Amino acid sequence: MTVRMAIIGYGKIARTEHAPAIARHPAFELAAVVAPNGAPDSEVPVFPTLTELLDAMPDGIDAVSLCTPPRVRHAIAVEAIEAGLGVMLEKPPAATLSELEDLEARARRNGTTLYAAWHSQHAPAVKPAAMLLHSEVISRLAIDWREDVRKWHPGQDWIWEPDGFGVLDTGINALSIVSAILPRPLFVDEAEFFIPANRQAPIAAHLRFRGSDHAARFDWREQSNEAWNISVDTASGRRLSLQGGGARLIVDGEEQILGPFAEYASIYARFADCMAANVVDVDSQPLRILADAALIARRTTTAPYI
Ligand code: NAP
Repeated sequence: MTVRMAIIGYGKIARTEHAPAIARHPAFELAAVVAPNGAPDSEVPVFPTLTELLDAMPDGIDAVSLCTPPRVRHAIAVEAIEAGLGVMLEKPPAATLSELEDLEARARRNGTTLYAAWHSQHAPAVKPAAMLLHSEVISRLAIDWREDVRKWHPGQDWIWEPDGFGVLDTGINALSIVSAILPRPLFVDEAEFFIPANRQAPIAAHLRFRGSDHAARFDWREQSNEAWNISVDTASGRRLSLQGGGARLIVDGEEQILGPFAEYASIYARFADCMAANVVDVDSQPLRILADAALIARRTTTAPYI
């Protein structure tokens, strides 16, 4: 059976990743798009809201991919679940943990499919790293996630709002990888958020996790040496380095041969399985780490971001 999809929130990630991944996967067909300000490039019907889509196309879609900024996602997901649709959530799956738990409970109650997709967990280094680390004791963890916000998020004002997550919108990708590969959950012991004087969300953040030498550094001010790297040392003497957001894996100095970097093909393969088996697949751990950091973070004001 073909799953008729609607993409809700037709911005950068919807256009560059979701629409092509849906087009390429034989289980899916793009049937509609929801875009409040229109989407002239769409080849399928466009509606300003999910409500209007459902009015115009009753029984016209089976599932939705929610690609909006996180703040509006909960209300739309509730509407979709109540309408009996399968739901895929882009990361971060909700703006708060309570919203995410509510969606999970509603989907279970209604017997509908819910999948909280963390795209970085689908990078090719993640599964092999998780297998190598699953019975290890971790002696050192270093997350080094630095990029140029002007290059990657031009014109995205929502990302600087209090519920836009700032640099942690990107940093949560690293947290989703460590949630998938580490044998035990992380505890945030200290956090510092660096917030531009004219913004609400951090441009950089430092986290220190429980255990000596467990830390993360996220920075959106990097221009020449961007990095999306995670290094893990184990008590047994192993050293893993995941580089390029999980595109590369180096184990004890040796580059591993991995499959292609095809995160969204893998996400839609998983969503096809979720739809076929009608399951709820929600990993709340990355959002939990971020929420913990926000609860205890020291806030430091930095230069205005223009
Ligand atoms: P974006 O380019 O700003 O797109 C967001 C889209 O959502 C916009 O087209 C916006 O429409 C639409 N939208 C806002 N409110 C809506 C509503 N109530 N109903 C329907 N649509 C609504 O942002 P993005 O980069 O695609 O990011 C979206 C999500 O994907 C974020 O959670 C982000 O973390 C995640 N993500 C982004 C990337 C990336 O590289 N950009 C990668 C992976 C995941 P208007 O512009 O018309 O308001």
